[in-house]
Amino acid sequence: MNTNPKKLLAKALSKKTLGILGGGQLGKMIGMAASRLGIKVIIFDPKEDSPAFQIADKYYISSFEDKEKTKVFARECDAVTYEFENVPLECLIYISKFSKTYPGIFPLKISQDRVLEKNFIHKLNINVADFSVVKSKKDIKNFLIKKSNKVLLKKVKQGYDGKGQKKIDLRNLKNLKISFKNNNFIAEKIILFKKEISVIVIRDKQGRLISYKPSENNHREGILIESNYPAKIEKKIEFKAKSIAKKIAKELNIVGVLAVEMFITRNNEIIVNEIAPRPHNSGHWTMDVCNISQFDALVRVIFDLPINSIKYYHKCKMINILGENYEQFFHSLEKAKHKIHIYGKNKIKPKRKMGHVNIID
Ligand code: AMP
Repeated sequence: MNTNPKKLLAKALSKKTLGILGGGQLGKMIGMAASRLGIKVIIFDPKEDSPAFQIADKYYISSFEDKEKTKVFARECDAVTYEFENVPLECLIYISKFSKTYPGIFPLKISQDRVLEKNFIHKLNINVADFSVVKSKKDIKNFLIKKSNKVLLKKVKQGYDGKGQKKIDLRNLKNLKISFKNNNFIAEKIILFKKEISVIVIRDKQGRLISYKPSENNHREGILIESNYPAKIEKKIEFKAKSIAKKIAKELNIVGVLAVEMFITRNNEIIVNEIAPRPHNSGHWTMDVCNISQFDALVRVIFDLPINSIKYYHKCKMINILGENYEQFFHSLEKAKHKIHIYGKNKIKPKRKMGHVNIID
């Protein structure tokens, strides 16, 4: 009989299955991290051409609302995680009857609704941008008059990569065409930040917290263009940013990873913009810089594998390959220090994330 604990663990892992809700690039990279440890991967997504299907042991093409399919899927998995916040909450609650779910139901509930998210963070005494729920143009006008002469109008739910966001001032408000019937919106004060950073935090089942060092991010029209590690910020801001991210992860009871996006203002105030209870685009540099990437970390937490410390081997500039700058891929093919990650999406479209390159130094 084989009683070597290490061999037993390897054997046990090969019998484990991770289910992932969402078959985009994040689902794919989580799946690849699991697969590298010998864990089987099942992906669940309504879209036939989901890139994560390419690396899955099995996949389901089905609506998240289909209870029969989600039940069959959940029963086949030892654990289920999600790659994006827009998985319907009811779907995850239903799945939790048949399988363990990570990083949790509560973090999904909070992160998929901007109002719940901002109120939750504000209650922890952490700064968020001043905002108000708006139900009419008159509400927006009042906010503009009282709080800020320019605001961002954001959808409360289903917004990502700058989608569902508009810059509004008193002049363009008249011409604004949106339906307040079908969607809820917030008006949010525009922050004149000097830098945008993000912090990825890992929280394990024992509640132990480890934070990656912050990265510095550049966005264009709400879409992440590049992330730089390390962020060029003072030590005390780095410390504060990491403490904020850890506090949010703890209070959300995350078991997995959490990304926290923040603004740093000219007087060094930190304002939290958004959270995501999953690996994040601004943490892709960890794949080629660290001993344990954000994807590896999530899998290790779920399957009780140790994370002793995070090591950093390089500086890095992560560039997103969007449909409109696909040329970057061909350019990077010629460069030794460019680590290319292409997601395998079937159509190249402007503003669509097609892949990324980690340029290590
Ligand atoms: P979000 O979808 O809320 O993460 O916003 C995407 C990007 O839009 C952010 O990363 C910022 O670059 C920008 N942005 C969002 N909210 C604000 C704000 N209140 N003030 C200034 N810029 C913002």
